[in-house]
Amino acid sequence: MLIQIDKLKRRPRQIVIDEQATDFAVLHDLVEEGTILFNDKIHGTLEAAWAGDIIQVTGRLATTVTSSCGRCLVPVTEQLVISVLLCYAGLDDDGELAVAEDVELTNQELGLIPYSGSEIDLRPDLEQEIIMALPQQTLCEKSCRGLCPVCGRNLNQGGCECAPPVFHAGLAALKNFKAKK
Ligand SMILES: [Zn+2]
Ligand SMILES: [Zn+2]
Repeated sequence: MLIQIDKLKRRPRQIVIDEQATDFAVLHDLVEEGTILFNDKIHGTLEAAWAGDIIQVTGRLATTVTSSCGRCLVPVTEQLVISVLLCYAGLDDDGELAVAEDVELTNQELGLIPYSGSEIDLRPDLEQEIIMALPQQTLCEKSCRGLCPVCGRNLNQGGCECAPPVFHAGLAALKNFKAKK
């Protein structure tokens, strides 16, 4: 996952990604914690090319992940598509981004990533893109009814005999009592 900058000067380069999620440090931790499961490698093809003073890395990665529904805890498997757009700018001798003045604002908006030396290691930046694409709150479906707080039954599979919790009613009465005083 290294881009050799002097080689890139001649022509755009295809980068084939076919990586285990656990080869990325943070993803490895998420898998260890049981937060998410990767059913598949992270795969796809990226292209690295010069665009003016910037090296652009673009493309799409895909994988399949499984995480638990936030309400009823059933495992939910979904296809994940990760759009990659990384823009790298070299640092000049003063440690400033070596880009033309007139494109500087746009560059900042794009989130320019500084590089120095003769190589760019895509791994940490790709990992960031993958993390951003992970499902934030998994739901098996929008109308998921969750688990009964009393007996733990999955309410999507039918109701249960439990009485609705009375705790909140009691608390409300207490508040009224205080307000009157
Ligand atoms: Zn659910
Ligand atoms: Zn119940």
